[in-house]
Amino acid sequence: MSQIVLHSGQVVSPEGRFDVDLLIKDGRVHSHGQRGAFKNVDAEQIDCAGRLLLPGGVDTHTHLEHRVASGATRTIDDFHSGTVAAACGGTTTIVDFVRAPAGTAVDEAFYTRREAAEAACVVDFGFHPIVPATAGEDDSFARLRRLSEDEGVASWKFFMAYPGSMVSDAVLLEGFRVAAELGVLPMVHAENGHMVADAVAGLVAAGRTAEHEHLHGHPASSEAEAVNRAAVLAQHVGSSLFVVHVSAADAARQVREHRAAGARIWAETCPQYLASSYEQYEGAGLLAAGHICSPPIREAANAEALWTEVSNGTIDTIGTDHASFALHTGPGMLPQKDSGGGVFTGVPNGVPGVEERLVVMHTAGVLTGRITMERFVDLVSTAPAKTFGLHPRKGTLAVGADADVVVWDPAAERVLSAAAQHSLADYSVYEQMHVTGAPAAVYSRGELVSVDGEPVPGLRRGRGTYLHRARQH
Ligand SMILES: [Zn+2]
Repeated sequence: MSQIVLHSGQVVSPEGRFDVDLLIKDGRVHSHGQRGAFKNVDAEQIDCAGRLLLPGGVDTHTHLEHRVASGATRTIDDFHSGTVAAACGGTTTIVDFVRAPAGTAVDEAFYTRREAAEAACVVDFGFHPIVPATAGEDDSFARLRRLSEDEGVASWKFFMAYPGSMVSDAVLLEGFRVAAELGVLPMVHAENGHMVADAVAGLVAAGRTAEHEHLHGHPASSEAEAVNRAAVLAQHVGSSLFVVHVSAADAARQVREHRAAGARIWAETCPQYLASSYEQYEGAGLLAAGHICSPPIREAANAEALWTEVSNGTIDTIGTDHASFALHTGPGMLPQKDSGGGVFTGVPNGVPGVEERLVVMHTAGVLTGRITMERFVDLVSTAPAKTFGLHPRKGTLAVGADADVVVWDPAAERVLSAAAQHSLADYSVYEQMHVTGAPAAVYSRGELVSVDGEPVPGLRRGRGTYLHRARQH
């Protein structure tokens, strides 16, 4: 197989910056050398002067080709369009979810979905199965156990809210206990489902149903309560815990306090909770529907407080929760954001963002001094790889790792827009945001997949491979 030398660039890892040249061979980082060490090697020589070399982005929270729980619609991005968008934005690994439709066993759903992903993904992928709401009464935990043992499934997700998905505390306890036995990391969607249902019913009764009212149906207290409860339950059975998409600063504080008290707890937030805000969509009608996700995009003051929790290390990883719908339902399309008819309870939840994760975090985080470039690499690549059993194959440019490399141009300037993005959604929550710093080139296992934010011609559908992950918690 071909050899590539990336020379004159600076490698960035969470530990620091290193002036080393990289020799890539057979899809892996073969060796590091001093400047010029590989100049006589028979290889494609790529000059990376003025560029940073980052381990490929790892987004452990995407929903591609995702059918909503009711079955009424599906996200607009499939495994192909979603991973093309990822590759263009510097993300070379995704971990998506498996939700078993009613009447289908979770392991059967896993195999069906893996097959669909194998046929379409252009970057590598793994899956977190969602624990069915029926898990306390059927054989779901036995099936999940088998999946973890046979297929390298290192994490399971539990929903603490939403009819049809929400599990009881008893199921959380049982699931956390089995997970701990297997070294599986349990993840929680932490909102108190009863509080959300109550708040939403109150809004509906009061006639407050405009799109932006969605925020008020998801109080920060319901998120903080669920984080606290999950942390207490996990400790009760000796389990680790990962909290996905923390949106409320109050919920992040719960993570910080439980960790300080000795809990093995990790947390993710998403760029939309940091770089977008309620003020941007309040009263905005259909565009507000475009901002509906759960937990919600909260007020700017909350985003500021959440940034503090990113800066101080409470937040460990940045995922996107990419779950994309278009604003407008075109002919022949499944219902999109406009299907809510102006009423927030009818709007499919989720925002696109898999492509913008790195550029938004760099501009809003690194350039503002909230995080260093080293921490940025940790948040978007190394920490998610380590937490979810993908390291040292992913999340690092150490010798032996997959040659997933982002050649980062710190001076590149772009204006984000729906027109330029590769998601099939017709809007962006970052519309007209000016960013500085972007991927100039992205390699996945040594193969060039995107240049200047565009996919390379001939990028092969289905070149992405399924990743077996290590159970280590
Ligand atoms: Zn999600």
